[in-house]
Amino acid sequence: MDLNTVETVLRPRSRSQLPSWQDGDACLAGGTWLFSEPQLTTRRLVDLTSLGWSPHAIGPDGLTLAATCTFAQLDRLDLPPAWSAAPLIGQCCRALLGSFKIWNTATVGGNLCLALPAGPMTALAAALDARCTIWSADGAERDLPAMDFVLGPRRNALRPGEILRGLHIPTEALMRRTAFRRISLSPAGRSGALLIGTLEASGAVALTVTAAVRRPIRLAFDGLPDDAALAQAIAAAIPDALYHDDVHGRPDWRRHVTGLLAREIRDALGEGGSCI
Ligand SMILES: Cc1cc2nc3c(=O)[nH]c(=O)nc-3n(C[C@H](O)[C@H](O)[C@H](O)COP(=O)(O)OP(=O)(O)OC[C@H]3O[C@@H](n4cnc5c(N)ncnc54)[C@H](O)[C@@H]3O)c2cc1C
Repeated sequence: MDLNTVETVLRPRSRSQLPSWQDGDACLAGGTWLFSEPQLTTRRLVDLTSLGWSPHAIGPDGLTLAATCTFAQLDRLDLPPAWSAAPLIGQCCRALLGSFKIWNTATVGGNLCLALPAGPMTALAAALDARCTIWSADGAERDLPAMDFVLGPRRNALRPGEILRGLHIPTEALMRRTAFRRISLSPAGRSGALLIGTLEASGAVALTVTAAVRRPIRLAFDGLPDDAALAQAIAAAIPDALYHDDVHGRPDWRRHVTGLLAREIRDALGEGGSCI
């Protein structure tokens, strides 16, 4: 839709061209959400895509993604065969059920910054121990675990004027076996629960719960938990008030499917071979 409160669109080519932040500013990435509803307080857009960041880089220390990397660019990546977690990337991309037009413009950074509980890039980044690089308004840079980036529905850890520059996923996390489960109320609906399990060579297991809850929750186990240990850990980490409540699912349903999908993930990780 037309954003008829916007008076200026800036297209900086470098960090030094970024404007001093003022009330009414908003970063523009893919714009798939920004242009989807009125932005009554927005006066000026700062188009991050004009900065020309390289979308991704594969190196010995892992995978680096620019915040402006699109879902389509991420899904097309050819990753090293030793990275057992590679299928998880496509699974998370496909958890956003948009058309090719959305996939070609929606960005990884926009997904995290929008901070919807059902953000699949939030889930991917949290499950694989990604770290966020954040550009501060004073020219400095800070680093934050992706797990701590989303604070609640539509709330992220950015301070005024800060920009998410990108993410780094370490090689150790990309070498883990993974299992992914997602459910929604309708076949093309938004995720009501999205859970990711990872298994390290040491036997350590982590379960990341998103979409069902207001912010990502991570459970860690020394080995595969039995039903009772799993249920107990979920109950201890997720009080009823933390289950999300919106048109995509009621809290009691989300709590129920979280337990169900967690057990499926535990079983898949326990089966050996590659998990799905
Ligand atoms: C059909 C459809 C289905 C969708 N399904 C889902 C879904 O399942 N899950 C989900 O989470 N979303 C969903 N969305 C919403 C949205 O498309 C995605 O979250 C998308 O990833 C947002 O990315 P974007 O680049 O388009 O962000 P934009 O719309 O450009 O920006 C989103 C917000 O983040 C801010 N922002 C963007 N990038 C940065 C940055 N680098 N630094 C600081 N702030 C920034 C913007 O100012 C804005 O407030 C869906 C949208 C559509 C149209």
